[in-house]
Amino acid sequence: MLLKLGVALFIIGFCLVEARGWQKDGKQRRKHKFGNMTDDQVKGFKNSLRKTNVDRFVAALDRLADKNGTDIEPSANEKAAMKERIKHLRKHVRSPKIHEDGDDMTEVNEKAGVAESLYQGDMALDDSQVDAILGEFVDGPADARKKRQAFYNSRYPRNLWGNTFYYYFDPSLTDEAKAISQVAIAFWQNSTCVNFEENSTAPNRVRFFKGQGCYSYVGMIGGEQDLSLGSGCQYFRQAAHEIAHALGFFHEQSRYDRDTAITVNTENVKPESVGNYRETETRNNNYNMPYDYGSIMQYADTSFTANGGKTMISKVPVYQDNMGSQSVSFYDISMMNEHYQCKQKCTSGATCVNGGFRNSRNCNTCICPSGYGGATCSDRAPGCGATLTATSATQTLNITIGVRTSVDYPTFETCNYLIKAPASNKVEVVLRAIAGNVQCRAGCIYKGIEVKATNDHRYTGIRYCCSDDVGTTIVSEGNIVPVIAFNRYHQSNYTVTYRSVPSSTASTILAIQLPMSKPTL
Ligand SMILES: [Zn+2]
Repeated sequence: MLLKLGVALFIIGFCLVEARGWQKDGKQRRKHKFGNMTDDQVKGFKNSLRKTNVDRFVAALDRLADKNGTDIEPSANEKAAMKERIKHLRKHVRSPKIHEDGDDMTEVNEKAGVAESLYQGDMALDDSQVDAILGEFVDGPADARKKRQAFYNSRYPRNLWGNTFYYYFDPSLTDEAKAISQVAIAFWQNSTCVNFEENSTAPNRVRFFKGQGCYSYVGMIGGEQDLSLGSGCQYFRQAAHEIAHALGFFHEQSRYDRDTAITVNTENVKPESVGNYRETETRNNNYNMPYDYGSIMQYADTSFTANGGKTMISKVPVYQDNMGSQSVSFYDISMMNEHYQCKQKCTSGATCVNGGFRNSRNCNTCICPSGYGGATCSDRAPGCGATLTATSATQTLNITIGVRTSVDYPTFETCNYLIKAPASNKVEVVLRAIAGNVQCRAGCIYKGIEVKATNDHRYTGIRYCCSDDVGTTIVSEGNIVPVIAFNRYHQSNYTVTYRSVPSSTASTILAIQLPMSKPTL
């Protein structure tokens, strides 16, 4: 009897210790839950993070989640301004999903059960990054700032791959995920000076494998590091995004200057996920490029939603639907070229115009903003499309793009138009019809039409893909407007009208309104 009582007391005592967890600051801590993963899946997940003390990492994530985001709660004024902007957003009726398993990384990872075990839902951090980024949740706030500085000043540059990114495909990877990885790898290789080489024995290498969800380490960690493209990740956005993490990129919505670009609508965010909207603690270098809502590193505007409502509200409302883009933006490409010092490789060569820069793979050619092409970016992008002259008379442009099949092509087919008004005028574009197989989805991930309305044609233009976008009028800042129709599923039909209007007409958006603040490193 006494023995039984002793055993029972021991068990109760053990349970109390377990439930209490780590309570360094006296607060109750929950024990980390790995979503609904099976024991084997947890084992696989932990193994994929073998460069990290996983228990320490997830304990820090739990402490971050426990903070409940009170520190990122918008001020009363911010909230009031946000509510006003929300009132004026179009009330899209979203199209049903084409793939049940695939959507933004956050949704895929929430379903897979890993979202809460990764930084901001899809990033693995090694121990030194845990110290640098989550330091205050591991060690307390005292020396966190010092560590953040160290992260930028010494760790950050060493976390690059140099000339070659070595990788190999684990047999666990599905054929689809392997094929899309190859497309994304070719994209990053052709757009930068980084060479990608398949090699399973290189000292530093990435193993592409099928884990739970989509995630990657940030930058080169050293040795073998894992990049997971699990079920729901076999799409270009996911592959290109995770490779960008492996190359060293963080998220657009965690840029230190993101408060100039978005307001986090904390009311709609799952309480345990609010911490994911903290800015990256490092003073990340954005190379003086504006916040681009069309960045491949920008999450969709319902990421970590508790109720289906929007979790990020753009401060520039016309760009609300750009969040969650399926294509790598020109500024993403330009920033990666800065990050790997590719631009410095061309000391002479082509004179690039319209915002293009010399292609480090052939300095006599340029990498051009979308809509532009030719050796120096002075031409319209080749293929489907036309250069059009706007006059004061209204003209109609009908665009048909895509094939009539339900094949979900990995990358977009595009039709590029350049609408030119006389030098001192502006261009007015009116969306008259969006028809065919309409896919009204966050980020216009299957199809849409983009209007580059500011004078900065490097910047992702305003994207439309919903029926209630019809009737929208856009007035450009300058006299040239690239209009790009893009499609990768079924067919799309767009009708727009355009005409030249006097320069006194108010522009929809000006380049100086694009959010950006200079880094204070
Ligand atoms: Zn990510």
